[in-house]
Formats: sequence, structure tokens, C-alpha cells
Amino acid sequence: MIGVAGELILIVEDNDKNLKLARDLLRYRGYRTLETARGTDSVSLAAEQHPDLILMDVQLPDTDGVTALRRLRAHPATRTIPVVALTAFAMAGDRDRLLAAGFDGYLAKPIDTRRFVDEVARYCRGEWGG
Ligand code: MN
Repeated sequence: MIGVAGELILIVEDNDKNLKLARDLLRYRGYRTLETARGTDSVSLAAEQHPDLILMDVQLPDTDGVTALRRLRAHPATRTIPVVALTAFAMAGDRDRLLAAGFDGYLAKPIDTRRFVDEVARYCRGEWGG
């Protein structure tokens, strides 16, 4: 089902395969996307382009996702943009740790191709958790 969502999603992910999959799934359903593999670039990109939602990999080559999140929250132009953690960590309690760090939500990798866009859509509508 092709939608006409139109929202702009910033994907911060250093794994090429995951980045392409997320981008393709979102674009197929009508989202616009911006992409970067670097946490530091996510702040300047978000400040310039004002995405509706940021998907943030937690493990990045330059700076980790939690640090990038802190910088986004400290920047006046980006502090209110919802940021959802994208992480391969499967340990119990990881979700709580990320939410405690200030992420608005959590999406587990590997990306579930049947559910991914619906979950992003819920976050875009401001429906957290569940
Ligand atoms: Mn990574």
C-alpha cells in the first residue's frame, strides 16, 4: 500500500544495508528521507532541514547515538524534533536505558519490513510506546 505521507524523515545509520532498507521502505510509502552515517552531521542536517522525525542508530562510527541525541536536544533548532533509537541491542532493559537517555521511542534491528513503516507512522503521529 502506497501512502502519501510526505513527512521528512532523517535516517542516521552507518550500516549501508540497513540505511538503504529503511530509506526504500519509507520512500515506497511516500515519505521523504535524508540520510547520514555520522552522528555529528545529524545535528547540522536536522537544523537545516527540520525533519519531522529522526531515526538514530545507537552505534555510529564518529559519535554514539546517545551523544548525538544530547546535541540535538541542546540545539534550539532541533530540540523538539522526535528522535527514535534504531538499535541492534537485544538485551533486556536496553529499551528502558534508551528511553531514560531521552529517546522518544525505540525500533529494533533487524528491521521488520512488514511493520517498520507503520511504526514510523505512529511516531510521526506522536503515538509513543506500545
Ligand atoms: Mn551502527
